[in-house]
Amino acid sequence: MTGFDEMVDWLVVGSGAGSMASALVMRDAGKSVIILEKTAFVGGTTAKSGGVMWVPANRFMLADGESDSADAAMAYLDAAQDEHPAPGTSPEKRRAYVTQAPRAIDFLVDKGVALQRGATFWPDYYDELPGGCKTSRTVVAKPFDRKELGPWRDKLRKGFAEFNVTLVEGMEAQGHRRTNKASGKMLLRIFGRTLRDTLLGRQYTTLARRCRGGCSRPPWPQAWT
Ligand SMILES: Cc1cc2nc3c(=O)[nH]c(=O)nc-3n(C[C@H](O)[C@H](O)[C@H](O)COP(=O)(O)OP(=O)(O)OC[C@H]3O[C@@H](n4cnc5c(N)ncnc54)[C@H](O)[C@@H]3O)c2cc1C
Repeated sequence: MTGFDEMVDWLVVGSGAGSMASALVMRDAGKSVIILEKTAFVGGTTAKSGGVMWVPANRFMLADGESDSADAAMAYLDAAQDEHPAPGTSPEKRRAYVTQAPRAIDFLVDKGVALQRGATFWPDYYDELPGGCKTSRTVVAKPFDRKELGPWRDKLRKGFAEFNVTLVEGMEAQGHRRTNKASGKMLLRIFGRTLRDTLLGRQYTTLARRCRGGCSRPPWPQAWT
């Protein structure tokens, strides 16, 4: 082919979780990648989100000694679909999700994205249905100092929480509102951490911005145009 300024193996439109993950997979496979983003910032809606990933049988819950499987998750999704039909789904798509999502988490962790279990108590929304999880199938990213991105740090789209606090702490704070002692302890802990980060010049970000930035080998310095 002629008449093109540049040719790549993988052209990605948009810089949300889906596209950036695909870029990472292709870079890992040795392919050339370009990510096209129409805004001035990396991250899309993903950067604004809570960043909680629902991943059945993920490595973190299994490491906690819990039993879960693709079949249990499939039973849950089928039952949820029976109760609350959604037009965009199919058994094939559901099966693909429950089998591939834990593999995607393994891939990201292996590539240096610092993830962890979201919470030990975050039940499925319809946990009473067959296959429903009464503990937690959630995965989130660990807090991330965006200074690690160097000059790219300012290209990360702003999230709604720009300090070193986890979503679980935010949820607990809600529950602690009426128990002043627990609430005070938590606020003190967060305050101490924020003070330390400020003194050390760290720029922690939280919730889903961490997913966009939290990779020790980010794909975009080579791939971004
Ligand atoms: C407040 C909030 C909280 C949420 N919390 C959660 C949660 O906890 N868990 C969960 O699973 N989901 C959550 N969601 C939903 C989730 O964030 C989205 O479903 C997900 O981020 C979509 O990812 P994406 O990769 O498809 O697209 P996006 O992250 O939106 O990325 C799309 C990117 O493509 C760019 N783009 C669009 N058109 C073009 C174009 N023509 N050329 C170039 N670039 C283009 C956009 O600018 C954008 O950067 C939440 C959403 C919100 C708003």
